[in-house]
Amino acid sequence: MDLYCPCGDVIRADDEDDLVARAQEHLREVHPRRRYSREEILFFAY
Ligand SMILES: [Zn+2]
Repeated sequence: MDLYCPCGDVIRADDEDDLVARAQEHLREVHPRRRYSREEILFFAY
């Protein structure tokens, strides 16, 4: 699965749990002002 973050980064993962974990790590580091739920993260993934 890939997640294209609006900032231009691409987050790759093998499954949903991995993707959510990686995305939340990225969001904590790069976008600390905004919190995203699992549903929001999966909405951006495909
Ligand atoms: Zn980003």
